[in-house]
Amino acid sequence: MRFEISKVLDAIEGRVCTDPSLARAVLDLAEIIRYQDIDGGRPASLLRLGMVIDALSRELEEDSVQVYAVVHRALLSDADLTSNERMVVRRWADDGLVEVLDNPGDRMLEVADLLGLPVLSRVRFDGLRGRFPWLVEQPGRVVAPVPGAGGPVFIAHVGGGHAPVAGKRSPTGAKLLARQWRCPESGCALFGGGGGGGAFADLAGGADRSPAAQPPPSLRNGVPTCPRHGARLGDGGPRPRTEVLAVRVGGLVRRRFVLSEEQPVVAGRAPEQEGGIMLGQWLNDEARRWISRGHVRFELRVGEVIVTDVSTNGSGIRPAGSMNEADRIPLAPQQSRVLGENDMIELYPGVQIGRAEELPTGAPFTPTSVMAEAPTMAMRLPRP
Ligand SMILES: [Zn+2]
Repeated sequence: MRFEISKVLDAIEGRVCTDPSLARAVLDLAEIIRYQDIDGGRPASLLRLGMVIDALSRELEEDSVQVYAVVHRALLSDADLTSNERMVVRRWADDGLVEVLDNPGDRMLEVADLLGLPVLSRVRFDGLRGRFPWLVEQPGRVVAPVPGAGGPVFIAHVGGGHAPVAGKRSPTGAKLLARQWRCPESGCALFGGGGGGGAFADLAGGADRSPAAQPPPSLRNGVPTCPRHGARLGDGGPRPRTEVLAVRVGGLVRRRFVLSEEQPVVAGRAPEQEGGIMLGQWLNDEARRWISRGHVRFELRVGEVIVTDVSTNGSGIRPAGSMNEADRIPLAPQQSRVLGENDMIELYPGVQIGRAEELPTGAPFTPTSVMAEAPTMAMRLPRP
């Protein structure tokens, strides 16, 4: 039993991040794990985070969606969690996968405001509607996870409906995310680097974090501040540019990934390169035979996505996502091409990669649950 729970927590770990390009919603972990009515179980359970992430995945009709979790520091020693769960949350905190705060205050809404993310919460935030007008102006920006027949479902606080709706990054958010930031606190997992490097910079947690993946700073009296340490952040220069690409297999977006100017990304059946995007788990036997371990390489150069075929069998470009065979432009092994705004590269029929915003999902949708390994005990539905 313990082993299976660990596997579920590992799966959930892959769905929490503070990367502004990948997070699809923001939530307060302490609040979510105490929604006892979701499963009728223990007072606090980390597995509820997995259930809510699954619900978001169903709602967005996309696999592997990630959430931005704000975590009250007290949760790291919350006696209602198992020792294993506390250990896992501490690890997430150390790795900067979640944002740990002594006093979360309205940080969750600040993140939602800066990044344009929907908020998953039952709180109505009546007192903050003046400061964050989108709370009332944009239906679906705050959705409450509530118990449903097949797991949690969402209900919007404003305007009815159930779909979580993303907004745009606020102008302030866009400005903050154009720079990279340094926290003076050594080993800061969010804005690492520890004050300009030094002998132990490599040992500091988060020192290897790409500046392109830094969370949005907190603004205190207009000053960019580390939300964890309360310290004023130093400006580390322009942030590397990024593009978010998405892998679509069989009409369904399976995962998104960030391509930054810093390094190319290889996608294929099972790439050997660090940071490679592995597609093998979503492929049928024929596609597995056709697609090379490393099949295509993406680079971001002066704002353009360059795709190079590095496979044995070649691939093709679908201009503007066209599914018409006559439009498909073959890309021979070792050939490169600029990926147009709406273009998709097709590694094999039905296996495509393109800009995330331009990839429509197809129906029907059966997302992979993060709870797949959960023992029945954890999946117990509310008692009648
Ligand atoms: Zn810090």
